[in-house]
Amino acid sequence: MARILITVGPTRQYIDPVRYLTNASSGRMGSALAAAATALGHEVVIVSGPVHVAFPAEARVLPVVSTEEMLDVCRREFEACDGLIAAAAPCDYRPHRVSLQKIAKTGEPLLLELLETPDIVATLAVQKRPGQWFVGFALETQDQHIRALVKLEKKSCDLMVLNGPQAIDAETNHVELMDRDGQILASLEGAKQKVAEGILQVIQARLIA
Ligand code: C5P
Repeated sequence: MARILITVGPTRQYIDPVRYLTNASSGRMGSALAAAATALGHEVVIVSGPVHVAFPAEARVLPVVSTEEMLDVCRREFEACDGLIAAAAPCDYRPHRVSLQKIAKTGEPLLLELLETPDIVATLAVQKRPGQWFVGFALETQDQHIRALVKLEKKSCDLMVLNGPQAIDAETNHVELMDRDGQILASLEGAKQKVAEGILQVIQARLIA
């Protein structure tokens, strides 16, 4: 049995008290992975941005809003975990200035200066111990394999799940699983729950067993 940290859903970066930047992510793939992992008897800790999906009752769920918060909670929790499945789509940009009051419309364009948020997987990689494993996701619209391999390397992942933009907010998914050598280990297609079970089977065989 393993203890697995799963990041889920989008994060929000507020511009003012009512407006925010985010990423398109329903949290469905993350919750399906959590269900597949608990069904195999693993202990699951979920760090989730704002989503409307149900999580397995056995999982411990830690809700967060921003990418920085997701990173803080993950850094604390990963210490005691065997592996990470990074299924979240954290918002990659934050406004340089956050207005404490609602920004009023002026009839003029509003220019936002955006800064990059930290990459959660790449930051956790610094504290990764031998034996701990990472599974990352790569959603690409072009040059899927090469871009995914670069991300796998950059983020110190052991496996990468490749999918396309058609996965967003969909009931089904079509993914490929890539190992550290860039080899495609499996191609899975169907309902997200079925795809999640297939991903967990590969994780079980390659990283846990
Ligand atoms: O670079 P990109 O966002 O496409 O990489 C996707 C992978 O990196 C996913 O596993 C996602 O959860 C993770 N990620 C992250 N922190 C970010 C952005 C992405 O952990 N700020």
